[in-house]
Amino acid sequence: MSIKIKGIGVSKGISISKVYKLVEIDLNFEKIKDIDVALEKDKLNNSIDKSLKQLDKLRILSQDKLSVEELKIFEAHQLIIQDQDFLKQINEKIENEKIDAASSILAVSNSFIQIFETIDDDYFKERSADIKDVRKRLIANTLGLDIPDLTAIDQEVILVAEDLTPSETSQLNKQFVLGFATNIGGRTSHSAIMARSLEVPAIVGSKTIVESVENGDQIIIDGQTGDIIVNPNEVEIEIYTAKKIQFEANEKLLQKYKNKATISQDNYKTEICSNIGSFNDIDGVINNGSEGVGLYRSEFLYMESKELPTEEVQFEAYKKVLEAMKDKLVVVRTLDIGGDKELDYFDIPKEMNPFLGYRAIRLCLDQDQIFRVQLRALIRASKFGNLKIMFPMIATVEEFRDSKRIFEEEKAKLMNEGIEVAPNIELGIMVEIPSVAMMADIFAKEVDFFSIGTNDLIQYTMACDRMNEKVSYLYQPHNPAILRMVKQVIDASHKNNIWTGMCGEMASDPISIPILLGMGLDEFSMSSSEILSSRHQIASLNQKDIESQIDHILNLATAQDVKEYVETNILNK
Ligand code: PEP
Ligand code: MG
Repeated sequence: MSIKIKGIGVSKGISISKVYKLVEIDLNFEKIKDIDVALEKDKLNNSIDKSLKQLDKLRILSQDKLSVEELKIFEAHQLIIQDQDFLKQINEKIENEKIDAASSILAVSNSFIQIFETIDDDYFKERSADIKDVRKRLIANTLGLDIPDLTAIDQEVILVAEDLTPSETSQLNKQFVLGFATNIGGRTSHSAIMARSLEVPAIVGSKTIVESVENGDQIIIDGQTGDIIVNPNEVEIEIYTAKKIQFEANEKLLQKYKNKATISQDNYKTEICSNIGSFNDIDGVINNGSEGVGLYRSEFLYMESKELPTEEVQFEAYKKVLEAMKDKLVVVRTLDIGGDKELDYFDIPKEMNPFLGYRAIRLCLDQDQIFRVQLRALIRASKFGNLKIMFPMIATVEEFRDSKRIFEEEKAKLMNEGIEVAPNIELGIMVEIPSVAMMADIFAKEVDFFSIGTNDLIQYTMACDRMNEKVSYLYQPHNPAILRMVKQVIDASHKNNIWTGMCGEMASDPISIPILLGMGLDEFSMSSSEILSSRHQIASLNQKDIESQIDHILNLATAQDVKEYVETNILNK
């Protein structure tokens, strides 16, 4: 019998394939009593062989994705596995203390990790992270368990996991990963956002999918409705195959909006740009007829690296995107790390409330050497296209002034070094903290543009964690409180002759689009996969007509009232 599960559909499309379960290896395995020494030594030797071969394979599979420097990690792991002292200690445990192979590996690895972690030196800290990886691989191979390894997937699968971190999502190869379903998360979790960039169907917040499937089970996911069917019967497969064909046919029809401007029925022109995480997303930008990059989340460049990316690495990355976009707008957001976005190699202290803590511009202003490297790379790349820079998580005017001062200092230094830079690099801010929305008229006199980050603006305004499915009922883009803030920001910008974009997920929501159009939003920035359907929707709307209804909408009492009003009086008119 098939099992039906409902989650939150976050990236549209339908996939039917086999489950690949991403589960962590449990290091609390049972010890074996009365071991057979020869057998345990055999297990160890087989595990060593298998691990070395896996690492060879991983290196080959990653060759196109990682830099030469990053590829060395696989060799480093092989060296640890072959380290004489390490192996000697494990063998002695098996022979002399009669401890089984897996437990011996665990004990010896742990003692190495402990020693390395007490040394106050980054090199040894990194080695201890390497030993943790090696420990997992050797133990799994000794116990005959599969090691979940995203880069090693080489057959078509649907990934099932408790959660996916942004860095795990960035490793997905959509040639083989046809979609994913997770137990936790919400529409604006970064794994969901990245699924839309990758254009793979995805469902989050299903609560029970991990417990409901085994590796290799057949599974259907519908990323629009959030429906999951485990081990579907023939009828269900037929129904969903037909839905998949229908979906793909609709997508084809939308292609006619690809090379068109974004214009409403009454000839009001606006712009739709893309949110990207890396150069890999540029194909989607171009294939969906995007008018620019409205948000380049530069932190993904940091997450995909094994260490802080150098000025040169960043310069090349930004230059590549700018050149690919030619003279079209590219808004790069400076490092927005913290919250749910972590760097393996960079210690951000654990906090009670990471979304309210030491992150983004706060961290960059505090550790300005990191910030300056990024700004230099950006300023140097500026001459290769139409670059604008924006700062994330600005809460006060001083933070913007400090960021701008550091930018000007680095720009002056580069110009003194004789480096050519673009004449006028606009500096904007994300509006994602309510204090900025409330002070938009003051900010508008100092910044060159606003980009409203509703993913965070909603969570901070409603005091509702964007990742927590238990309070997702409060995560309300249509709440008049949010709409009033958005209107206030747009109006303040227009009064001061600057522009406002929106790069939060609300910009592609079909109920919000008419409202934003009516308010005169200058630029919508979204996952590229949403562009054509949004352009199609805007072509059917009358901007002037909606504009005259905005006051009424802002005076409604609830998010539900707004939704019903838009459905009845704008969409179904
Ligand atoms: C936002 O907060 O709306 C936003 C676009 O940034 P992020 O989702 O990366 O926090
Ligand atoms: Mg944000």
